Amino acid sequence: MPELPEVETVVRTLEYLIGGLRITKIDILYPPIVTGDNEAFSSVLINKRFTGFSRRGKYALYTIEDVVLMVHLRMEGRFYLVDAGTPIDKHTHAVFHLDNGKQLHYNDVRKFGRLEIVKPNEINVRLKLLGLEPFDPRLTGHYLKKMAGSRDIGLKTFLLDQRFVAGIGNIYADEICFCAKLHPESVVRKISLKRFNEIADCIKMIMSQAIADGGTTIRSYTSSLGVSGRFQLNLSVHMRKGESCRVCGQEIVKMRVSGRGTYVCQRCQKRIED
Ligand SMILES: [Zn+2]
Repeated sequence: MPELPEVETVVRTLEYLIGGLRITKIDILYPPIVTGDNEAFSSVLINKRFTGFSRRGKYALYTIEDVVLMVHLRMEGRFYLVDAGTPIDKHTHAVFHLDNGKQLHYNDVRKFGRLEIVKPNEINVRLKLLGLEPFDPRLTGHYLKKMAGSRDIGLKTFLLDQRFVAGIGNIYADEICFCAKLHPESVVRKISLKRFNEIADCIKMIMSQAIADGGTTIRSYTSSLGVSGRFQLNLSVHMRKGESCRVCGQEIVKMRVSGRGTYVCQRCQKRIED
């Protein structure tokens, strides 16, 4: 599932590819992919230009003049920019015709993604349950310690909860735990402020590195791959079961934490519990 860095990469790639272009026609091939009335969706967007590109948590926000197209890619959503007349893939659910002769295809094998029109002044209300962005200066050890409070949950579960920090998913939660040298099942109410300061630094560092890695994707975009935000990941633990830890050489193990595949170096990552 795309996490913050991947969504950021998708947004920046589309800004580069379609910024300023006007929508001339929209075909919605799988109606449930659009939240709300399909005809209203099309009529509010036609003849308008893509004027702004931003992101909040895992949501991409495309400003189209006076409205915002909010996109959540969920599991497999991706965009393709193709020439008009290109055959439509069976997993393409919406086609945006653009005034330069290109088409933006929204493709989603699992059909979990959603496209929705929101008024600019409603965005904050719609996304009010999201916690701070990783790069928000208010995201500090103090903030995390306060959010953790007396909660009896593990650190990974805490990091995945979008109400505390927005945009972290399964991959980067593992990487942040490794960076902070803490076991993903460490109980958050037992974690010290000093440790939370380190966790805050790790969140910012891991996310900015991942976004920087994504920058290369923007330059290497090819329409055959689509804009999915996926890129060559430079990971320390995630998906490295059986390989050696880059710090201590111990074998990385895979376990389940809150039902999610989780990768840990049991020597480097200290478990803080009761
Ligand atoms: Zn290690």
